[in-house]
Amino acid sequence: MKVLVVGGGGREHALVWKIAQSPLAPEILCAPGNPGTARHARNVPVAANDLFRLVDLARREAVDLVVIGPEEPLCLGLADKLRGANIPTFGPGASGARIEGSKVFSKELLERHKIPCAADRRFDRSGAAKSYLEGCTTWPQVVKADGLAAGKGVFVCHDARSACAAVDAIMENKSLGAAGSRVVVEEFLVGEEASVLAITDGETILILEPVVDHKQVGDGDTGPNTGGMGVFSPVPTLTRRIQRQIEQRIIVPAVHALRREEIDYKGVLYAGLMITESGPRVLEFNARFGDPEAQVLVRRLKGDLLPILVATAKGALASIEPPDWDPRVCIGVVAAARGYPGPVQKGDLVAGIEDGEKVPDTVVFQAGTARAKNGDLLTVGGRVLCVTALGADLTEARDRAYAGYSKVTFDGKFCRRDIGLRAQARPVPAEGPDGAPGTPGSAAGTGFHAGRDVPKRPARSAAAPRGSSRESGGGAGSGSGTAS
Ligand code: ATP
Repeated sequence: MKVLVVGGGGREHALVWKIAQSPLAPEILCAPGNPGTARHARNVPVAANDLFRLVDLARREAVDLVVIGPEEPLCLGLADKLRGANIPTFGPGASGARIEGSKVFSKELLERHKIPCAADRRFDRSGAAKSYLEGCTTWPQVVKADGLAAGKGVFVCHDARSACAAVDAIMENKSLGAAGSRVVVEEFLVGEEASVLAITDGETILILEPVVDHKQVGDGDTGPNTGGMGVFSPVPTLTRRIQRQIEQRIIVPAVHALRREEIDYKGVLYAGLMITESGPRVLEFNARFGDPEAQVLVRRLKGDLLPILVATAKGALASIEPPDWDPRVCIGVVAAARGYPGPVQKGDLVAGIEDGEKVPDTVVFQAGTARAKNGDLLTVGGRVLCVTALGADLTEARDRAYAGYSKVTFDGKFCRRDIGLRAQARPVPAEGPDGAPGTPGSAAGTGFHAGRDVPKRPARSAAAPRGSSRESGGGAGSGSGTAS
């Protein structure tokens, strides 16, 4: 079997690493890949957004499967083009990828299908957005650019002045280019953040283990947002009851919603969530594996990922047994380059990856690295690599991940020192008998994580989250009902 993985970041290194372990012994190509993917795959110098050359490559190489990593080619319609050429593809087409590519589209979908999220207003003129913000009496408000912005399009604003400045930056100064032609202004949600990823072929849903990302650059969630500075899984604060709510009120209704809107969705549906006092609510949807979320998920996924990807691409996910998960804790610590998430210094020598991987159960996934002509490994991006480690408990996983991190060297290297601490710092919400905390290992094999069949023609009642109520005005399904 021949597989082409599209992308060149840490997520793609993680996917290639996992696919390479398949007993099916696949031949793997990665476009464009990075020095990490080159350890397991043949890198081909084709950019991830060069649709024409990617389709040509997949055809010429007669690949059996294409796995699309990043959001940009998905939003550009790479999956549509590949499917048009009869090439099995893991990743939604452009219509499905809009769930990530346009926050306005995503909010409208959530609203139409009564999926709980933050109340919001949407604007295509900066004047109207600013008038609305000047009249707001509750703060903070969250200002979001509509389009793809690599984590830089969201501003949590504490007063009208900063919110209007964010609108000006996005809509008038076009700081994010075309991504800022519209804005969404959301109510600020209070709670614990978590991410739940599901793999779906549009009919069957396989919900993966929950993860927690750390978006802000500084310890204690300070400083600007980034693409993600670290991650941990499992998530002990997500009780089984909350996990069931996420499944029943968010993931299953979202997949039904896509079907009912006649969107053929084959790939990852990633829900970024806020677990509020009134239940889980959607912060964002992504149309692909997260980075660095993929890095810890592949470490915890037991067994073969490849048949899951193939079955999803072929619309046969129902034939796959839900996988087992390593019950141990996995921590991923991102090593970033000085200046990130702003402009970074590049071209510094990276050393010590092999030593880092000598720490027990530690794997280093590369992202912003490149090989110089003389073979040196150099930094070329903001997030240079991610050190992942498994441990029997949080302490062991953290000790190993940071020990691995300390062995890797490059000038200007920095990381967050508090990855994973959130897992133990916050109290577990009090719940009834079925609300036992999702302690490490307890989740795998429960109904939540098992494959879930969605009826071929989903019944209306099954698509709407039971018990949810819809707020009036601009609120998009912000009411969250009682537990079903
Ligand atoms: P981009 O669109 O720039 O790629 P993103 O998709 O990562 O960014 P979100 O996940 O929507 O953006 O938001 C980034 C972070 O901002 C969230 O992880 C969360 O911490 C915070 N955030 C977003 N929306 C809200 C909200 N309504 N209430 C509270 N915090 C929020």
